[in-house]
Amino acid sequence: MSPVRSAFVAGNWKMNGALAGNVALLEKLRAGLPEREALEVAVFPPFPYLDQIARLLSGSTIGLGAQDVSRHAVGAYTGEVSAGMLREFGCRYALAGHSERRRFHLESDQLVAEKFGAAQAVGMTPILCLGETLEERQADATLDVVFRQLDAALALHGVAAFAHAVLAYEPVWAIGTGLSASPEAAQAVHRALRQRVAKDDLAVAADLRIVYGGSVKADNAAALFAQPDIDGTLVGGAALDADAFLAICRAVNG
Ligand code: PEP
Repeated sequence: MSPVRSAFVAGNWKMNGALAGNVALLEKLRAGLPEREALEVAVFPPFPYLDQIARLLSGSTIGLGAQDVSRHAVGAYTGEVSAGMLREFGCRYALAGHSERRRFHLESDQLVAEKFGAAQAVGMTPILCLGETLEERQADATLDVVFRQLDAALALHGVAAFAHAVLAYEPVWAIGTGLSASPEAAQAVHRALRQRVAKDDLAVAADLRIVYGGSVKADNAAALFAQPDIDGTLVGGAALDADAFLAICRAVNG
């Protein structure tokens, strides 16, 4: 973790949650969150719970994020939720291109780049998710894939847009499988992503937070965070367990 970039720990609940359970989870998180300088924590519940969670987070430093966002601002797009609506419900962040959206909803790099821009247009911080499948990794195509995914957003919005964004490197084969990338393998990809952005703008690249996601738990978090280009994590499964999520937050800065 870099001493200049603040760490970001994001909890993606995926399609999990229930009114009563959310209250219990948030109470524990609020009570147990470590007071660390330069630590930013956010939760990403399913859309129907955003209002409830926003109220439960009132007065807390924990931020609220959306798991997805429409590329459209308004109109006849049944089932879609716009960035403006999410902002009204207190979202500071939106994921763009989580691998489950790319895989199950066939989201293209271009669509993901448009979602990234839609979130930013209303003042939210987009978290651009990137990552290769197992087949792509075995074919030694990891960097080709993540660069292609990154370049779609760079081409559409320019490097300046990355001054207000987060990258999440999430190898698909590591998500929900218990098989995390090794700290060294993740660091190599993070470094390459930063260098890619640095080709366009050194200062933006130096300040850009690149978080790792994929089976992060309390017992592997510290080793990942010790890497110079890993600035935090996007957590899935462990975000549903307050103790596990808090232990990951505590692993920031040792
Ligand atoms: C995720 O959903 O983005 C994720 C990283 O999941 P998990 O932590 O369960 O691998």
